[in-house]
Amino acid sequence: MAKSEPTVREYETKSSAGTVAIGRKLADLLTPPRLMILRGDLGAGKTTLVKGIATALGAAEPDEVTSPTFNLIHEYSGELEGKPVKLLHLDLYRLDAERQLDPLGLEEMQTPDALILVEWGEKFKSIRKRADGEIAITSAGGDARKIVVTLN
Ligand code: ADP
Ligand code: MG
Repeated sequence: MAKSEPTVREYETKSSAGTVAIGRKLADLLTPPRLMILRGDLGAGKTTLVKGIATALGAAEPDEVTSPTFNLIHEYSGELEGKPVKLLHLDLYRLDAERQLDPLGLEEMQTPDALILVEWGEKFKSIRKRADGEIAITSAGGDARKIVVTLN
C-alpha cells in the first residue's frame, strides 16, 4: 500500500494577534490523539500560537497560556466538537539529554484525548519518533512570520 502523503499547510502572519488567529484555525486540524513538535527560534511565536489553539478548544483564555519553560508542562482541559481534549503544552528548552525526559512520562501522556504540543521537541530523538507532525514558525522580518504545519 502506498504511504499517504503528509498534509502541509502554510500561513503568513504580520502580528502576534495574527498568530493567535492562526492557532484558532489550526485547532480543528489537530484532532487528538496527536503529538506535534513546535519548531522555531526563541521569540518565533510558538507559545503565542498555543494561545490560539487553547482558546479555540475553550481550554484557556489567551492570557492564561504562558511559557512552560520553568515547569516544563502546562495542562489545560478543553473540547473539540463536543469531545474532551486534554491540551498538554511542553517547553523543553532547558533540557538537553534524553534521560531528562524520563520523569515526564511522555508515553503515559499519549492518551486518546491528548493533544501534546512540544516546544523544542526536535532536540530529542525519542520525541521526533513519537511526533505526528510539526509546526514550524520562521521570522519573515519584523513582526511577520511564516507558519508551516506538516501532519505526517
Ligand atoms: P516562543 O514561544 O517561540 O519563544 P513567544 O510566543 O513566547 O515565542 O513570543 C513571541 C514574541 O514575539 C512575543 O513577544 C510577541 O509579541 C512577538 N511577536 C511579534 N510578532 C509576532 C508574530 N507575528 N507572531 C507571534 N509573536 C510575535
Ligand atoms: Mg515558548
